[in-house]
Amino acid sequence: MANAPMKKDVVVIGGGPGGYVAAIRLGQLGKSVALVEKEQVGGVCLNWGCIPSKALIHIAKLYEEMKNAEEIGITCKNIAIDLKKAQAWKIGVVKKLTTGVSQLCKGLGVEILKGTADFETPNRVSVKGSNGGAQTVEFTNAIVATGSRPIEIPGFKIDGKQVVDSKDALDWTEAPNRILIVGGGVIGMEIGMLYQKFGTKVTVVEMLDQLLPGTDADIAQFLMIACRKREITVHLSSKALGWEKKKDGLHVNVETPKGKVNVVCDVILLSVGRSPNGKGVGLERIGVRVDAKGAIPVNQKLQTSLPHIFAIGDVVGPPLLAHKASKEGLVAAEVIGGKPEVYDVQAMPAAVFTDPEIATVGMSEEDAKRKGYSTFTGKFPFAASGRAVSTGATEGFVKVVAEKGTNLLLGVQIMGPSAADLISEATLAIEMGASVEDLALTVHPHPTLSESVMEAAEAAHGKAIHTVNRTPSQVTRAHGTV
Ligand code: FAD
Repeated sequence: MANAPMKKDVVVIGGGPGGYVAAIRLGQLGKSVALVEKEQVGGVCLNWGCIPSKALIHIAKLYEEMKNAEEIGITCKNIAIDLKKAQAWKIGVVKKLTTGVSQLCKGLGVEILKGTADFETPNRVSVKGSNGGAQTVEFTNAIVATGSRPIEIPGFKIDGKQVVDSKDALDWTEAPNRILIVGGGVIGMEIGMLYQKFGTKVTVVEMLDQLLPGTDADIAQFLMIACRKREITVHLSSKALGWEKKKDGLHVNVETPKGKVNVVCDVILLSVGRSPNGKGVGLERIGVRVDAKGAIPVNQKLQTSLPHIFAIGDVVGPPLLAHKASKEGLVAAEVIGGKPEVYDVQAMPAAVFTDPEIATVGMSEEDAKRKGYSTFTGKFPFAASGRAVSTGATEGFVKVVAEKGTNLLLGVQIMGPSAADLISEATLAIEMGASVEDLALTVHPHPTLSESVMEAAEAAHGKAIHTVNRTPSQVTRAHGTV
Protein backbone atom coordinates (compact mmCIF):
# COMPACT_ATOMS: atom_id res chain seq x y z
CA MET A 1 0.00 0.00 0.00
CA ALA A 2 1.31 3.45 -0.93
CA ASN A 3 2.25 5.83 1.91
CA ALA A 4 0.05 8.87 2.57
CA PRO A 5 1.30 11.88 0.55
CA MET A 6 3.99 13.93 2.25
CA LYS A 7 3.24 17.68 2.15
CA LYS A 8 6.07 20.15 1.62
CA ASP A 9 6.35 23.81 0.66
CA VAL A 10 9.01 22.92 -1.89
CA VAL A 11 10.26 19.76 -3.55
CA VAL A 12 13.74 19.98 -5.09
CA ILE A 13 14.57 17.30 -7.66
CA GLY A 14 18.28 16.55 -7.96
CA GLY A 15 20.88 16.87 -5.21
CA GLY A 16 23.77 18.44 -7.20
CA PRO A 17 25.29 21.88 -6.55
CA GLY A 18 22.13 23.45 -8.00
CA GLY A 19 19.60 21.41 -6.04
CA TYR A 20 21.32 21.06 -2.67
CA VAL A 21 22.24 24.77 -2.52
CA ALA A 22 18.61 25.71 -3.30
CA ALA A 23 17.35 23.26 -0.65
CA ILE A 24 19.70 24.66 2.00
CA ARG A 25 18.75 28.27 1.26
CA LEU A 26 15.04 27.33 1.35
CA GLY A 27 15.66 25.70 4.72
CA GLN A 28 17.31 28.92 5.92
CA LEU A 29 14.23 30.81 4.73
CA GLY A 30 12.02 28.59 6.89
CA LYS A 31 10.43 26.53 4.12
CA SER A 32 9.65 22.85 4.52
CA VAL A 33 11.67 21.08 1.84
CA ALA A 34 12.08 17.60 0.35
CA LEU A 35 15.25 17.02 -1.68
CA VAL A 36 14.87 14.05 -4.02
CA GLU A 37 18.04 12.37 -5.29
CA LYS A 38 18.16 9.10 -7.20
CA GLU A 39 21.90 8.45 -6.82
CA GLN A 40 24.11 10.43 -4.43
CA VAL A 41 23.62 13.81 -2.77
CA GLY A 42 26.23 16.16 -4.24
CA GLY A 43 25.31 15.22 -7.81
CA VAL A 44 27.81 15.03 -10.64
CA CYS A 45 30.01 17.78 -9.21
CA LEU A 46 30.82 16.24 -5.85
CA ASN A 47 30.63 12.55 -6.81
CA TRP A 48 31.80 12.16 -10.41
CA GLY A 49 32.93 15.58 -11.68
CA CYS A 50 34.58 18.67 -10.18
CA ILE A 51 35.74 17.20 -6.88
CA PRO A 52 37.05 13.72 -7.82
CA SER A 53 38.75 15.11 -10.93
CA LYS A 54 40.47 17.85 -8.96
CA ALA A 55 41.53 15.41 -6.23
CA LEU A 56 43.23 13.20 -8.84
CA ILE A 57 44.70 16.20 -10.68
CA HIS A 58 46.21 17.32 -7.38
CA ILE A 59 47.83 13.89 -6.89
CA ALA A 60 49.16 13.85 -10.47
CA LYS A 61 50.66 17.30 -10.09
CA LEU A 62 52.32 16.42 -6.80
CA TYR A 63 53.69 13.22 -8.34
CA GLU A 64 55.19 15.17 -11.23
CA GLU A 65 56.63 17.83 -8.93
CA MET A 66 58.26 15.20 -6.74
CA LYS A 67 59.80 13.52 -9.77
CA ASN A 68 61.33 16.85 -10.75
CA ALA A 69 62.29 18.02 -7.25
CA GLU A 70 65.97 17.08 -7.60
CA GLU A 71 66.56 20.37 -9.42
CA ILE A 72 65.53 22.37 -6.33
CA GLY A 73 67.58 20.27 -3.95
CA ILE A 74 65.05 17.72 -2.79
CA THR A 75 66.00 14.12 -3.36
CA CYS A 76 63.00 11.87 -3.68
CA LYS A 77 63.92 8.25 -4.28
CA ASN A 78 61.74 5.44 -5.65
CA ILE A 79 58.78 7.68 -6.42
CA ALA A 80 55.87 5.62 -7.66
CA ILE A 81 52.19 6.14 -8.10
CA ASP A 82 49.71 3.72 -6.53
CA LEU A 83 46.43 4.58 -8.21
CA LYS A 84 44.49 2.21 -5.93
CA LYS A 85 45.56 4.29 -2.92
CA ALA A 86 44.97 7.51 -4.84
CA GLN A 87 41.42 6.34 -5.59
CA ALA A 88 40.84 5.48 -1.94
CA TRP A 89 41.94 9.00 -0.96
CA LYS A 90 39.69 10.50 -3.65
CA ILE A 91 36.72 8.48 -2.35
CA GLY A 92 37.46 9.81 1.14
CA VAL A 93 37.47 13.39 -0.13
CA VAL A 94 34.12 12.88 -1.89
CA LYS A 95 32.63 11.20 1.20
CA LYS A 96 33.72 14.04 3.49
CA LEU A 97 32.04 16.62 1.28
CA THR A 98 28.85 14.70 0.51
CA THR A 99 28.42 13.81 4.19
CA GLY A 100 28.83 17.50 4.99
CA VAL A 101 26.06 18.40 2.53
CA SER A 102 23.72 15.78 4.00
CA GLN A 103 24.41 17.08 7.51
CA LEU A 104 23.75 20.67 6.47
CA CYS A 105 20.44 19.59 4.91
CA LYS A 106 19.51 17.69 8.06
CA GLY A 107 20.45 20.63 10.25
CA LEU A 108 18.06 22.87 8.32
CA GLY A 109 15.21 20.34 8.30
CA VAL A 110 15.59 19.46 4.60
CA GLU A 111 14.27 15.93 4.15
CA ILE A 112 16.38 13.87 1.73
CA LEU A 113 14.35 11.29 -0.21
CA LYS A 114 16.32 8.62 -2.07
CA GLY A 115 14.57 7.80 -5.33
CA THR A 116 13.60 8.88 -8.83
CA ALA A 117 11.12 11.74 -9.04
CA ASP A 118 8.36 11.90 -11.64
CA PHE A 119 5.71 14.64 -11.85
CA GLU A 120 2.18 13.20 -11.65
CA THR A 121 0.33 16.53 -11.55
CA PRO A 122 1.46 20.19 -11.36
CA ASN A 123 1.48 19.87 -7.54
CA ARG A 124 2.38 16.24 -6.94
CA VAL A 125 5.47 14.20 -7.57
CA SER A 126 6.05 10.48 -7.09
CA VAL A 127 9.38 9.26 -5.76
CA LYS A 128 10.27 5.67 -6.62
CA GLY A 129 13.08 4.01 -4.69
CA SER A 130 15.34 1.37 -6.21
CA ASN A 131 13.78 -1.20 -3.85
CA GLY A 132 10.36 -0.65 -5.45
CA GLY A 133 9.03 1.54 -2.62
CA ALA A 134 7.15 4.71 -3.56
CA GLN A 135 6.36 7.99 -1.86
CA THR A 136 4.19 10.84 -3.05
CA VAL A 137 5.03 14.45 -2.25
CA GLU A 138 2.53 17.27 -2.62
CA PHE A 139 4.14 20.67 -2.97
CA THR A 140 3.47 24.35 -3.50
CA ASN A 141 6.68 24.96 -5.49
CA ALA A 142 9.15 22.65 -7.20
CA ILE A 143 12.72 23.15 -8.40
CA VAL A 144 14.01 20.85 -11.14
CA ALA A 145 17.80 20.41 -10.89
CA THR A 146 18.30 17.11 -12.69
CA GLY A 147 21.62 18.05 -14.34
CA SER A 148 23.06 16.61 -17.53
CA ARG A 149 24.58 13.43 -18.95
CA PRO A 150 27.38 12.65 -21.44
CA ILE A 151 26.54 12.80 -25.14
CA GLU A 152 27.24 9.73 -27.26
CA ILE A 153 28.11 9.84 -30.95
CA PRO A 154 27.55 7.20 -33.65
CA GLY A 155 30.13 4.42 -33.58
CA PHE A 156 31.23 5.22 -30.01
CA LYS A 157 28.73 3.58 -27.66
CA ILE A 158 29.90 4.00 -24.07
CA ASP A 159 30.45 0.52 -22.60
CA GLY A 160 32.53 1.53 -19.57
CA LYS A 161 35.50 -0.60 -20.71
CA GLN A 162 36.66 0.19 -24.25
CA VAL A 163 34.68 3.39 -24.77
CA VAL A 164 34.32 5.26 -21.50
CA ASP A 165 32.96 8.55 -20.16
CA SER A 166 34.56 10.84 -17.58
CA LYS A 167 32.91 9.00 -14.69
CA ASP A 168 34.61 5.74 -15.71
CA ALA A 169 37.95 7.43 -16.35
CA LEU A 170 37.96 8.99 -12.88
CA ASP A 171 37.56 5.56 -11.27
CA TRP A 172 40.53 3.79 -12.84
CA THR A 173 42.86 2.05 -10.44
CA GLU A 174 45.47 1.63 -13.16
CA ALA A 175 46.51 4.18 -15.76
CA PRO A 176 46.01 2.97 -19.32
CA ASN A 177 49.08 2.77 -21.55
CA ARG A 178 47.42 4.61 -24.44
CA ILE A 179 44.23 6.67 -24.49
CA LEU A 180 42.45 8.36 -27.35
CA ILE A 181 40.24 11.25 -26.27
CA VAL A 182 37.40 12.23 -28.58
CA GLY A 183 36.71 15.91 -27.82
CA GLY A 184 39.32 18.51 -26.81
CA GLY A 185 37.01 20.44 -24.50
CA VAL A 186 37.38 21.05 -20.76
CA ILE A 187 36.69 17.52 -19.52
CA GLY A 188 38.78 15.79 -22.21
CA MET A 189 41.79 18.06 -21.69
CA GLU A 190 41.67 17.86 -17.87
CA ILE A 191 41.55 14.06 -17.91
CA GLY A 192 44.10 13.79 -20.74
CA MET A 193 46.65 15.94 -18.91
CA LEU A 194 45.94 14.07 -15.66
CA TYR A 195 46.74 10.63 -17.11
CA GLN A 196 49.71 11.96 -19.11
CA LYS A 197 51.33 12.64 -15.73
CA PHE A 198 50.78 9.00 -14.77
CA GLY A 199 52.62 7.89 -17.92
CA THR A 200 49.73 7.39 -20.37
CA LYS A 201 50.34 8.16 -24.04
CA VAL A 202 47.54 10.62 -24.86
CA THR A 203 46.02 11.47 -28.25
CA VAL A 204 43.25 14.06 -28.57
CA VAL A 205 40.90 14.36 -31.55
CA GLU A 206 39.01 17.66 -31.77
CA MET A 207 36.52 18.43 -34.52
CA LEU A 208 36.98 22.23 -34.37
CA ASP A 209 40.15 24.14 -35.20
CA GLN A 210 41.22 24.81 -31.61
CA LEU A 211 41.31 23.12 -28.23
CA LEU A 212 38.73 24.33 -25.67
CA PRO A 213 36.43 25.66 -28.41
CA GLY A 214 35.05 29.09 -27.54
CA THR A 215 38.03 30.02 -25.34
CA ASP A 216 40.39 32.94 -26.11
CA ALA A 217 42.62 32.06 -29.09
CA ASP A 218 45.87 32.97 -27.24
CA ILE A 219 44.96 30.54 -24.47
CA ALA A 220 44.04 27.77 -26.91
CA GLN A 221 47.32 28.28 -28.76
CA PHE A 222 49.32 28.20 -25.53
CA LEU A 223 47.55 24.98 -24.55
CA MET A 224 48.67 23.43 -27.85
CA ILE A 225 52.26 24.34 -26.96
CA ALA A 226 51.79 22.86 -23.47
CA CYS A 227 50.47 19.64 -25.07
CA ARG A 228 53.42 19.45 -27.45
CA LYS A 229 55.81 19.89 -24.51
CA ARG A 230 54.11 17.03 -22.70
CA GLU A 231 54.08 14.83 -25.82
CA ILE A 232 50.29 14.84 -26.06
CA THR A 233 49.29 14.41 -29.71
CA VAL A 234 46.45 16.68 -30.81
CA HIS A 235 44.54 16.35 -34.09
CA LEU A 236 42.53 19.54 -34.71
CA SER A 237 39.80 19.89 -37.36
CA SER A 238 39.60 16.11 -37.18
CA LYS A 239 36.91 13.51 -36.71
CA ALA A 240 36.98 10.10 -35.05
CA LEU A 241 34.98 7.96 -37.47
CA GLY A 242 34.91 4.57 -35.75
CA TRP A 243 37.05 1.90 -34.16
CA GLU A 244 37.73 -1.80 -34.17
CA LYS A 245 39.44 -4.11 -31.75
CA LYS A 246 42.57 -5.87 -32.95
CA LYS A 247 45.24 -7.91 -31.21
CA ASP A 248 47.42 -4.90 -30.39
CA GLY A 249 44.61 -2.64 -29.17
CA LEU A 250 41.73 -0.50 -30.34
CA HIS A 251 42.29 0.91 -33.81
CA VAL A 252 40.56 4.27 -34.19
CA ASN A 253 39.99 5.66 -37.64
CA VAL A 254 40.57 9.42 -37.55
CA GLU A 255 39.95 11.81 -40.44
CA THR A 256 42.46 14.68 -40.23
CA PRO A 257 43.13 17.61 -42.60
CA LYS A 258 46.15 15.61 -43.83
CA GLY A 259 44.14 12.47 -44.54
CA LYS A 260 43.08 9.39 -42.58
CA VAL A 261 45.13 8.34 -39.54
CA ASN A 262 44.92 5.08 -37.62
CA VAL A 263 45.45 5.66 -33.89
CA VAL A 264 46.04 2.56 -31.77
CA CYS A 265 45.04 2.83 -28.12
CA ASP A 266 43.82 0.80 -25.17
CA VAL A 267 40.79 2.88 -24.30
CA ILE A 268 38.70 5.65 -25.85
CA LEU A 269 37.39 8.49 -23.69
CA LEU A 270 34.33 10.12 -25.17
CA SER A 271 34.09 13.74 -24.02
CA VAL A 272 32.10 15.53 -26.71
CA GLY A 273 29.79 17.42 -24.39
CA ARG A 274 26.79 16.82 -22.14
CA SER A 275 23.07 17.10 -22.73
CA PRO A 276 20.48 18.36 -20.23
CA ASN A 277 18.23 15.91 -18.34
CA GLY A 278 14.92 17.73 -18.84
CA LYS A 279 13.14 14.72 -20.31
CA GLY A 280 11.93 11.70 -18.37
CA VAL A 281 10.86 13.63 -15.26
CA GLY A 282 7.21 13.93 -16.31
CA LEU A 283 7.45 17.65 -17.06
CA GLU A 284 5.82 17.42 -20.50
CA ARG A 285 2.92 15.52 -18.86
CA ILE A 286 2.12 18.49 -16.60
CA GLY A 287 2.61 21.14 -19.30
CA VAL A 288 6.15 22.40 -18.59
CA ARG A 289 7.99 23.24 -21.81
CA VAL A 290 11.13 21.21 -22.47
CA ASP A 291 13.06 21.86 -25.70
CA ALA A 292 14.15 19.25 -28.25
CA LYS A 293 17.58 18.93 -26.62
CA GLY A 294 16.08 18.27 -23.19
CA ALA A 295 16.78 21.75 -21.78
CA ILE A 296 14.09 23.55 -19.77
CA PRO A 297 13.56 27.19 -20.81
CA VAL A 298 13.35 29.57 -17.83
CA ASN A 299 12.92 33.30 -17.25
CA GLN A 300 15.20 35.54 -15.14
CA LYS A 301 13.51 34.30 -11.98
CA LEU A 302 14.29 30.73 -13.10
CA GLN A 303 10.57 29.99 -13.55
CA THR A 304 9.57 27.45 -16.19
CA SER A 305 6.45 27.78 -18.34
CA LEU A 306 4.51 26.83 -15.15
CA PRO A 307 5.54 29.73 -12.87
CA HIS A 308 5.42 27.73 -9.61
CA ILE A 309 7.92 25.23 -11.05
CA PHE A 310 11.54 26.38 -11.34
CA ALA A 311 14.54 24.88 -13.13
CA ILE A 312 18.24 25.49 -12.42
CA GLY A 313 21.72 24.26 -13.28
CA ASP A 314 22.83 22.10 -16.20
CA VAL A 315 19.24 21.21 -17.04
CA VAL A 316 18.53 24.79 -18.16
CA GLY A 317 21.57 24.79 -20.47
CA PRO A 318 25.06 26.27 -20.71
CA PRO A 319 27.40 27.21 -19.24
CA LEU A 320 27.52 23.80 -17.54
CA LEU A 321 29.29 24.92 -14.39
CA ALA A 322 28.74 24.03 -10.76
CA HIS A 323 28.89 27.64 -9.50
CA LYS A 324 26.39 28.73 -12.15
CA ALA A 325 24.02 25.96 -10.94
CA SER A 326 24.49 27.09 -7.33
CA LYS A 327 23.85 30.75 -8.15
CA GLU A 328 20.66 29.81 -9.97
CA GLY A 329 19.68 27.65 -6.99
CA LEU A 330 20.05 30.63 -4.66
CA VAL A 331 18.00 32.89 -6.94
CA ALA A 332 15.18 30.32 -7.31
CA ALA A 333 15.09 29.79 -3.54
CA GLU A 334 14.95 33.53 -2.82
CA VAL A 335 12.16 34.03 -5.38
CA ILE A 336 10.17 31.20 -3.78
CA GLY A 337 10.88 32.83 -0.42
CA GLY A 338 9.16 35.99 -1.70
CA LYS A 339 12.30 38.06 -2.29
CA PRO A 340 12.56 40.40 -5.33
CA GLU A 341 15.47 38.44 -6.80
CA VAL A 342 16.45 37.82 -10.44
CA TYR A 343 19.37 36.06 -12.11
CA ASP A 344 21.39 39.00 -13.35
CA VAL A 345 25.00 37.86 -13.49
CA GLN A 346 27.38 40.09 -15.46
CA ALA A 347 30.46 37.96 -15.08
CA MET A 348 30.48 34.16 -14.99
CA PRO A 349 33.98 32.83 -14.38
CA ALA A 350 35.12 29.46 -15.71
CA ALA A 351 38.13 27.42 -14.68
CA VAL A 352 39.90 24.61 -16.50
CA PHE A 353 42.28 22.50 -14.44
CA THR A 354 44.72 21.66 -17.19
CA ASP A 355 48.45 22.18 -16.84
CA PRO A 356 48.89 25.13 -16.82
CA GLU A 357 45.56 25.97 -15.23
CA ILE A 358 43.19 28.26 -17.14
CA ALA A 359 40.52 30.67 -15.94
CA THR A 360 38.47 33.18 -17.84
CA VAL A 361 35.78 35.72 -17.14
CA GLY A 362 33.87 38.15 -19.34
CA MET A 363 34.65 38.54 -23.02
CA SER A 364 37.65 37.26 -24.90
CA GLU A 365 39.23 39.67 -27.39
CA GLU A 366 37.47 37.84 -30.25
CA ASP A 367 34.10 37.89 -28.43
CA ALA A 368 34.37 41.61 -27.75
CA LYS A 369 35.25 42.38 -31.38
CA ARG A 370 32.37 40.21 -32.61
CA LYS A 371 30.06 42.20 -30.34
CA GLY A 372 31.25 45.46 -31.91
CA TYR A 373 33.57 46.71 -29.18
CA SER A 374 36.70 48.57 -30.08
CA THR A 375 39.22 46.95 -27.76
CA PHE A 376 42.72 47.18 -26.39
CA THR A 377 44.52 44.53 -24.40
CA GLY A 378 47.30 44.13 -21.87
CA LYS A 379 49.32 41.00 -21.27
CA PHE A 380 51.74 39.99 -18.55
CA PRO A 381 53.76 36.75 -18.55
CA PHE A 382 54.14 34.74 -15.34
CA ALA A 383 57.81 34.36 -16.30
CA ALA A 384 58.17 38.00 -15.14
CA SER A 385 56.44 37.45 -11.79
CA GLY A 386 58.73 37.12 -8.78
CA ARG A 387 56.32 34.78 -7.08
CA ALA A 388 55.94 32.54 -10.13
CA VAL A 389 59.71 32.37 -10.64
CA SER A 390 60.30 31.57 -6.97
CA THR A 391 57.91 28.60 -7.17
CA GLY A 392 59.16 27.39 -10.55
CA ALA A 393 55.73 27.74 -12.18
CA THR A 394 56.27 30.32 -14.90
CA GLU A 395 54.26 28.98 -17.83
CA GLY A 396 51.44 31.25 -18.98
CA PHE A 397 50.18 34.80 -18.77
CA VAL A 398 47.39 37.15 -17.71
CA LYS A 399 45.51 39.00 -20.44
CA VAL A 400 43.04 41.81 -19.92
CA VAL A 401 40.60 43.06 -22.54
CA ALA A 402 39.16 46.57 -22.23
CA GLU A 403 37.05 48.96 -24.28
CA LYS A 404 38.82 51.83 -26.02
CA GLY A 405 37.52 55.20 -24.88
CA THR A 406 35.68 54.08 -21.72
CA ASN A 407 38.51 51.83 -20.42
CA LEU A 408 35.78 49.47 -19.21
CA LEU A 409 37.17 46.07 -18.28
CA LEU A 410 35.48 43.57 -20.61
CA GLY A 411 37.29 40.35 -19.89
CA VAL A 412 40.27 38.67 -18.27
CA GLN A 413 41.96 35.45 -19.31
CA ILE A 414 44.56 33.75 -17.16
CA MET A 415 46.70 30.76 -17.98
CA GLY A 416 49.17 29.77 -15.30
CA PRO A 417 49.60 28.89 -11.63
CA SER A 418 46.45 29.27 -9.49
CA ALA A 419 44.54 30.80 -12.42
CA ALA A 420 41.25 29.49 -11.01
CA ASP A 421 41.79 31.38 -7.75
CA LEU A 422 43.16 34.52 -9.38
CA ILE A 423 40.10 34.98 -11.59
CA SER A 424 37.81 35.99 -8.69
CA GLU A 425 39.38 39.46 -8.44
CA ALA A 426 38.65 40.03 -12.13
CA THR A 427 35.13 38.65 -11.71
CA LEU A 428 34.40 41.15 -8.94
CA ALA A 429 35.90 43.94 -11.06
CA ILE A 430 33.70 43.16 -14.08
CA GLU A 431 30.63 42.59 -11.90
CA MET A 432 31.14 46.07 -10.41
CA GLY A 433 31.76 47.74 -13.77
CA ALA A 434 35.41 48.51 -13.02
CA SER A 435 37.79 50.05 -15.52
CA VAL A 436 41.14 48.57 -16.41
CA GLU A 437 42.72 51.34 -14.28
CA ASP A 438 40.81 50.15 -11.22
CA LEU A 439 42.76 46.90 -11.47
CA ALA A 440 46.01 48.68 -12.29
CA LEU A 441 45.75 51.26 -9.50
CA THR A 442 44.88 48.77 -6.77
CA VAL A 443 47.92 47.92 -4.68
CA HIS A 444 48.60 44.18 -4.69
CA PRO A 445 50.70 42.41 -2.07
CA HIS A 446 54.21 41.31 -3.00
CA PRO A 447 55.34 38.74 -3.88
CA THR A 448 52.10 37.22 -5.14
CA LEU A 449 50.72 35.84 -8.36
CA SER A 450 47.93 38.41 -8.13
CA GLU A 451 50.44 41.14 -8.97
CA SER A 452 50.35 39.69 -12.50
CA VAL A 453 46.70 40.70 -12.82
CA MET A 454 47.64 44.25 -11.82
CA GLU A 455 50.61 44.27 -14.20
CA ALA A 456 48.49 42.99 -17.11
CA ALA A 457 46.10 45.88 -16.45
CA GLU A 458 49.07 48.27 -16.32
CA ALA A 459 50.42 46.75 -19.55
CA ALA A 460 47.16 47.69 -21.28
CA HIS A 461 48.38 51.30 -20.98
CA GLY A 462 52.04 50.48 -21.55
CA LYS A 463 52.80 51.00 -17.87
CA ALA A 464 53.70 47.55 -16.57
CA ILE A 465 56.99 47.69 -14.71
CA HIS A 466 58.25 44.13 -14.97
CA THR A 467 57.83 43.60 -18.69
CA VAL A 468 59.00 45.69 -21.62
CA ASN A 469 56.15 47.94 -22.71
CA ARG A 470 55.60 51.58 -23.48
CA THR A 471 53.15 54.29 -22.56
CA PRO A 472 50.77 55.16 -25.42
CA SER A 473 52.51 58.49 -26.14
CA GLN A 474 55.83 56.69 -26.71
CA VAL A 475 54.07 54.08 -28.81
CA THR A 476 52.59 56.86 -30.91
CA ARG A 477 56.01 58.41 -31.38
CA ALA A 478 57.70 55.13 -32.17
CA HIS A 479 55.08 53.52 -34.38
CA GLY A 480 52.68 56.29 -35.32
CA THR A 481 49.79 54.44 -33.74
CA VAL A 482 48.18 54.01 -30.31
P1 FAD B 1 24.14 17.65 -11.26
O1 FAD B 1 25.33 17.89 -10.46
O2 FAD B 1 24.25 16.86 -12.52
O3 FAD B 1 23.09 16.94 -10.31
C1 FAD B 1 21.87 16.45 -10.78
C2 FAD B 1 21.39 15.36 -9.85
O4 FAD B 1 20.04 15.06 -10.18
C3 FAD B 1 22.15 14.06 -10.00
O5 FAD B 1 22.71 13.70 -8.76
C4 FAD B 1 21.11 13.06 -10.47
O6 FAD B 1 21.30 11.77 -9.90
C5 FAD B 1 19.82 13.69 -9.98
N1 FAD B 1 18.61 13.34 -10.74
C6 FAD B 1 18.45 13.39 -12.09
N2 FAD B 1 17.19 13.04 -12.41
C7 FAD B 1 16.55 12.75 -11.26
C8 FAD B 1 15.23 12.33 -10.93
N3 FAD B 1 14.29 12.15 -11.86
N4 FAD B 1 14.93 12.12 -9.64
C9 FAD B 1 15.86 12.30 -8.66
N5 FAD B 1 17.12 12.71 -8.92
C10 FAD B 1 17.46 12.94 -10.20
N6 FAD B 1 32.00 22.42 -13.09
C11 FAD B 1 32.72 23.39 -12.51
O7 FAD B 1 32.18 24.47 -12.26
N7 FAD B 1 34.04 23.21 -12.18
C12 FAD B 1 34.68 22.04 -12.46
O8 FAD B 1 35.87 21.91 -12.17
C13 FAD B 1 33.95 21.00 -13.08
N8 FAD B 1 34.53 19.83 -13.36
C14 FAD B 1 33.80 18.84 -13.94
C15 FAD B 1 34.43 17.63 -14.21
C16 FAD B 1 33.71 16.60 -14.80
C17 FAD B 1 34.43 15.31 -15.11
C18 FAD B 1 32.32 16.77 -15.08
C19 FAD B 1 31.52 15.65 -15.68
C20 FAD B 1 31.70 17.96 -14.81
C21 FAD B 1 32.43 19.01 -14.23
N9 FAD B 1 31.83 20.23 -13.95
C22 FAD B 1 32.58 21.24 -13.38
C23 FAD B 1 30.42 20.51 -14.26
C24 FAD B 1 29.56 20.36 -13.00
O9 FAD B 1 29.74 19.08 -12.46
C25 FAD B 1 28.09 20.58 -13.35
O10 FAD B 1 27.94 21.82 -14.01
C26 FAD B 1 27.24 20.58 -12.09
O11 FAD B 1 27.34 19.34 -11.42
C27 FAD B 1 25.77 20.85 -12.43
O12 FAD B 1 25.04 20.85 -11.26
P2 FAD B 1 23.48 20.49 -11.27
O13 FAD B 1 23.03 20.66 -9.86
O14 FAD B 1 22.81 21.23 -12.33
O15 FAD B 1 23.39 18.96 -11.69
